[in-house]
Amino acid sequence: MPARTPESLEALVTELERLPGIGPRSAARLAHHLLRVPETDALALADAIRTARERIRPCSSCRAPSEHDPCPLCADEARDRSLLLVVETPRDLTAVESGGSYRGLYFVLGARLSPLEGVDAGALDLAGLATRAAQSEVDEVCIGTNPDLEGDGTALAVADAVRSIQRDGRPRITRLARGLPTGGQIEYQNASVLADAFEGRRALDA
Ligand SMILES: [Zn+2]
Repeated sequence: MPARTPESLEALVTELERLPGIGPRSAARLAHHLLRVPETDALALADAIRTARERIRPCSSCRAPSEHDPCPLCADEARDRSLLLVVETPRDLTAVESGGSYRGLYFVLGARLSPLEGVDAGALDLAGLATRAAQSEVDEVCIGTNPDLEGDGTALAVADAVRSIQRDGRPRITRLARGLPTGGQIEYQNASVLADAFEGRRALDA
């Protein structure tokens, strides 16, 4: 009769399996690893998860995860408040920021439209974006979704949301263009490619 897996170990494997990119075998390997390392190391991971979950909330202005509200970016008086760059994920924001040349603010959608994966417009905070874009300081909303099928669909939804609050053509709507290879994910681009994509942004309404 085979040895029965302890219940708590099974529960750990089940939780690990829910993580993206982790299959049953990886989950089992990670679980056994966590049981093998010193207890303090394993519990440090548990503590880090708990602390991050307790302290981090979406910034009420840009929706980026932050320990402060507004986040340090939105609170930075040196940033250009007339410009909003709309990105899909916080990882995209980080990629653009590490490029170092963008000086405006952001809005993080948190997802991208993906009909095949069941992600519809309800998953994007388009109402929040419209409210944010309607603030009088905003002159331009630049759409920084990825240059692929889902990113294009998401860009259309974003443009519609911003058009719904446009008055006399303000804020202008633009989209990142030249420099980003089609299908190239923003989070993997280098600084000069991202700077080119921003410089080459084009009006969507023209
Ligand atoms: Zn913010």
